[in-house]
Amino acid sequence: MENSSNEITNQGPMQVYEDNLAKGEFRIQQCKDCGQHVFYPRQLCHYCGSSNLKWAAISGRGTVYSTSVVRRKPERGGDYNVALIDLEEGPRMMSRVMDVEPEEVTIGMVVSAHVGMIDKTPAVVFYNKEQGDN
Ligand SMILES: [Zn+2]
Repeated sequence: MENSSNEITNQGPMQVYEDNLAKGEFRIQQCKDCGQHVFYPRQLCHYCGSSNLKWAAISGRGTVYSTSVVRRKPERGGDYNVALIDLEEGPRMMSRVMDVEPEEVTIGMVVSAHVGMIDKTPAVVFYNKEQGDN
């Protein structure tokens, strides 16, 4: 059954997600039928199959589930962290912890989401410490 429907639309969920990021808003989908939060952006709830998804503002709080260091030459920006973050609402997402040395990010570290830039593209990044308005 899965993948049998055509997932391509003019205004697909990924486009909405990216448009929200461009406005500085981190929203993920929430299923109106079963209440689960859903990420990555998609047409159907992967818990119950409903297409009744809305865009919800979330707390942005999360914890580091796993972490690794990607090596990069200093002239290209130096090493950086790649982490899997468990959002308070449930979904797990890949991102970066920005304000901690890459190898000092630890599993279980409490982090909070912000809309930042990765490779000149709006993206969700995480900080260990609360950031004021920047
Ligand atoms: Zn659902």
